[in-house]
Amino acid sequence: MRLVAGNWKMNKSPEEARAFGQDLSRAGLPEGVRALLFPTALALEHLVATVPSTVGVGVQNAHPEVCGAFTGEISAAMAKEAGASWGLAGHSERRELFGECDALAAERVSGLLRAGLNVMFCVGERMEDRERGLTDRVLRRQLGALKEEDLAHQRLSVAYEPVWAIGSGKAAGPKEATEAVLMIQEFARRPLTVLYGGSVNPTNVERYFQSGELGGVLVGGASLNPQTFRELLVAVAL
Ligand code: PEP
Repeated sequence: MRLVAGNWKMNKSPEEARAFGQDLSRAGLPEGVRALLFPTALALEHLVATVPSTVGVGVQNAHPEVCGAFTGEISAAMAKEAGASWGLAGHSERRELFGECDALAAERVSGLLRAGLNVMFCVGERMEDRERGLTDRVLRRQLGALKEEDLAHQRLSVAYEPVWAIGSGKAAGPKEATEAVLMIQEFARRPLTVLYGGSVNPTNVERYFQSGELGGVLVGGASLNPQTFRELLVAVAL
């Protein structure tokens, strides 16, 4: 089933997350599509308590260790205890703004899988990479950092998120997205679920599914409003 995942980044307090969950529950969800939300870690429990039970809730970032002297971090096991069933790793904001390298992103993936969570691993090129014809090479490098058993893991999904398309209003075209999806699946040597992310909204979302290759979309800005998030679900539902 197609997946619509919302990444809230550093938005929505615990009370705002609770209100979002209540709104979504009141409105009801369309059939034929899976919904997933990544709130801040502080709002996990509030969202889990209020969204319809079919909505997955995930942690945006988790340290590979279970516990220890890692100030400011939380572990996948802690997120799971708070109700998370998914975890994001490798988001370009972690890579670009917090200097996270391929190796750390890959370790975070391993930690999430070890904790029993589903993982959404993000990969994507910068505009200068694309202009220099390096998109494939960048994606292969990011994917190649994963342990082989993690890449083969049934609980791993990949989100293709070109850095230049995130939060910019400049969404990639369906052709660019499909090319990347096929390249990622070929690299993984299996039909894993690949999503597209980058300035997706209810108006442009349908075009990404026309090729039949995409498993879903990862949405930032357009996931913050419950009505808009629901419109995305309705547009994507089969
Ligand atoms: C994201 O942060 O993963 C994202 C896709 O953001 P936006 O939809 O706002 O471009």
